[in-house]
Amino acid sequence: MDSQMNYGSDYKYIPVTSVGSGMGMEVLPDIFHYTIQIVNIFLVGKPDTNDFVLVDAGMPGSAEKIISVTEERFGANSRPKAIILTHGHFDHVGAIIELVEHWKVPVYAHENEIPYLIGQKSYPEPDPTVEGGMVAKMSPFFPNEAINLGKNVMPLPTDGSIPSMPEFKWIYTPGHSPGHVSFFRESDRVLIAGDAFITVKQENLFKVLTQDKEISGPPRYLTTDWKAAKESVHKLASLKPTIALTGHGSPLSGELLTESLDKLDKNFDKIAKPDYGKYIN
Ligand SMILES: [Zn+2]
Ligand SMILES: [Zn+2]
Repeated sequence: MDSQMNYGSDYKYIPVTSVGSGMGMEVLPDIFHYTIQIVNIFLVGKPDTNDFVLVDAGMPGSAEKIISVTEERFGANSRPKAIILTHGHFDHVGAIIELVEHWKVPVYAHENEIPYLIGQKSYPEPDPTVEGGMVAKMSPFFPNEAINLGKNVMPLPTDGSIPSMPEFKWIYTPGHSPGHVSFFRESDRVLIAGDAFITVKQENLFKVLTQDKEISGPPRYLTTDWKAAKESVHKLASLKPTIALTGHGSPLSGELLTESLDKLDKNFDKIAKPDYGKYIN
């Protein structure tokens, strides 16, 4: 495997945390949810098998933590079959190079996200002027430069299937990023929504506060296409998920999920879309 990989030159540890940091929970017998500082990763697959994948790759500097969480659940020296990305923002690929080097496994992402993962394109600068309080103000410190995974990253199959995640289909949910995808399992209507919507208030995202369960639109400072983001939320709400696992915040299920996702879908412009910011027009 090609080891010519590098992070962007603005890659760095970001000193933020939340009440959920370091907490893991088995959401379903085959889905483990773990919070790295402020972002979630998921281990999908039954613990007594070696058939599992890692969804998203945490914050910068979190590789050792992710490896130990994985080994705790799947046994010493266990490794996923693949790493599947919802998208390539810094808080979802923060440990990916170390993980690929350690596990020697392929990474999959949507083809529209690949340019940002092979050093061709950098994400737009986060927007510190966007309505959204402290998080937005901090956002210029967030890495946005392209990382380069070289030949280790491959596009997801065009038929909607996901390698090593056979019961799930990927759903194209752009807006927060150009190649953002969500993962859905029809049999129990589990949705892994990435940052298409999140279950924590935007203002609380990086604070050490109680993270009230409430659905918000995608994180504002990095979302550049609000029209697409709105359509993506509509697409996900139409799936009528029974459990939603998001990139930030706690899992949400049942009526609370149905009601709040419906509310976000119907009032997207009011709830999600900031009133001002450089990507608004
Ligand atoms: Zn993101
Ligand atoms: Zn995120």
